[in-house]
Amino acid sequence: MVSASQEHEARVVDAAPKKLYINGQWRDAREGRVLNVHDPSTGSVLCTVADASPEDGRDALDAAQAAQKDFAAMPPRKRASILMRAFELMHERQDDLAMLMTLEMGKPLAEAAGEVAYAAEFFRHFAEEATRISGGYQTAPAGNARFVIRKEPVGPSLLITPWNFPLAMGTRKIGPAIAAGCTSVLKPAELTPLSMLALAQVLEDAGAPPGVVNIVVTSTAGQVMEPLIRSGIARKLSFTGSTPVGKKLLEQCADKVLRTSMELGGNAAFVVFEDADLDKAVEGAMLAKMRNSGEACTAANRMFIHRSVMHEFSEKLAQRMGQLKVGRGVDEGVQVGPMVDATQRDKVKELVDDAVGAGAKVVVGGEAGPGEGFFYQPTVLRDVPLQARMWNEEIFGPVAPLTPFDTETEVVDLVNDTEYGLVNYVYTNDLTRALRVAENIESGMVGLNQGVVSNPAAPFGGMKESGLGREGGDTGIDEFLETKYIGIAM
Ligand code: NAP
Repeated sequence: MVSASQEHEARVVDAAPKKLYINGQWRDAREGRVLNVHDPSTGSVLCTVADASPEDGRDALDAAQAAQKDFAAMPPRKRASILMRAFELMHERQDDLAMLMTLEMGKPLAEAAGEVAYAAEFFRHFAEEATRISGGYQTAPAGNARFVIRKEPVGPSLLITPWNFPLAMGTRKIGPAIAAGCTSVLKPAELTPLSMLALAQVLEDAGAPPGVVNIVVTSTAGQVMEPLIRSGIARKLSFTGSTPVGKKLLEQCADKVLRTSMELGGNAAFVVFEDADLDKAVEGAMLAKMRNSGEACTAANRMFIHRSVMHEFSEKLAQRMGQLKVGRGVDEGVQVGPMVDATQRDKVKELVDDAVGAGAKVVVGGEAGPGEGFFYQPTVLRDVPLQARMWNEEIFGPVAPLTPFDTETEVVDLVNDTEYGLVNYVYTNDLTRALRVAENIESGMVGLNQGVVSNPAAPFGGMKESGLGREGGDTGIDEFLETKYIGIAM
């Protein structure tokens, strides 16, 4: 017998848009190519989606260019109302959007529903920002002129998103682009195109004019995007993904001096001092490590625990990790889904094997499985030597490596000993130390006694090789605005 959940799964996949969205039209790829979308919890094919060629990409950018002038002139209140309506529609469609995301990406349904709400919040936040774009009026120091300072949309923008947060990484870019008056071409990850296509449907239903947002799915990202970056038509690239790909795209952007926003990789430390509330630290560690099954740029990748509390902390964390229910994200009570694909699962396995080979002790987990999907067991490793690869590479899986430290100076040096600088987490009940450490660590964000920092109203982004620019907060919209100064003789 077919269960209600199986019926829901079949219905959302059937109803999901599977074509390119260009100039307000749903269309096949010019060459008729399609790509397969998989369910990572079984490895089976869910459906096929149109697979864009470079010509399709160019059509999308031409549509964005054609729509730019009128869209820039649209009253801010009207742009805001598109975003606000899209926010409402995302909530109305939350169950279906969550199911679609779980099926293509693997995360448990409850987490997927949380991501839909989080993603929608970017639309509400930027709807509110759209009507508050301000400028200035200033007297020249010599008194003989006036300066009028105004903000203008950057222009047609290219947006590239990863698979780990298939909706939120899109709304975090589309929200400010629409608020600022920029048209865009968005390329989602090949592994998770369905969520973004469903979002295009939301935006169409919310009244976004043709050409304002165009979605191009492709299995040949480089071939489709590089000509667009070098076209001279696009004025901006906003990218979320890995640091190596981000560096390559920065080089391409230099050609036409594109404005760039780069949200890249992370190597977050999670520091627990001896005076921390250990139960709260374990709670925070579960969030910092296990949100999105560890497949997050903000995931705690290196856990530095004061030697005097190491035993107690590791036992408590291992107990919590060992109790997590692993399985298909659509099943009742599941807390940890599969890794997104076999490559990701094998990378996690390789990093754990490397650490164990170097002398780390497995407290819990340490193995792949169960089942046919790309699962890996929640794992806690103790005494991970600093030469293990996982201290320098993103694990991107449900593995918590712990190592002890003795002094504040030592741990601050350890935290900063990485080319990344996205986020770090610190647990201590000593206020002065908390602020001192937060000021001394090199990252765009710090979680003080909290394991999650993402919030649409806060500026999200990294230092060092974790990126350029900030998304969200009151600065997020600036990434899509130019500053123009008009000098007036008096
Ligand atoms: P990725 O391999 O860098 O891919 C990201 C996006 O770039 C995908 O859409 C990908 O398309 C596309 N891409 C790859 N090569 C390209 C090229 N030559 N030209 C144009 N586009 C190209 O990263 P991922 O594995 O999807 O995502 C995980 C990474 O994202 C991690 O490093 C994580 O830390 C980072 N991340 C950062 C943030 C942040 O806010 N800082 C948030 C989430 C994730 P295909 O799918 O077709 O390859």
